[in-house]
Amino acid sequence: MPTQYRRKGRVVSCQECGKGYHDRHDIPRVANTCNICGGHTFVRREDDADAEHMVNVRLENYRNRTMGVITYYKATNGLVTRLDATRSISEVGDTVAETIKRIGR
Ligand SMILES: [Zn+2]
Repeated sequence: MPTQYRRKGRVVSCQECGKGYHDRHDIPRVANTCNICGGHTFVRREDDADAEHMVNVRLENYRNRTMGVITYYKATNGLVTRLDATRSISEVGDTVAETIKRIGR
């Protein structure tokens, strides 16, 4: 399940410039080297310790608040589109942009 897959990753930041990375979805282009400043020291972000709790809170909010909106839009005008968000950030961004262009009015 994609949600559980994303939960397992770790979030770190470059100690020099603060650029954040995810160990599965946003990794440095060169291993252990920051894309921005070339730094080699990464620290676990403070919020990572609470990440699983926060993900659970966000998922609960999604179920309680967003699902109803999705159901409404599916039923009324067909503007809801599914996409594979397990791909890279740039691939997902491209798909979102293409989808908006395709359904734009
Ligand atoms: Zn950096």
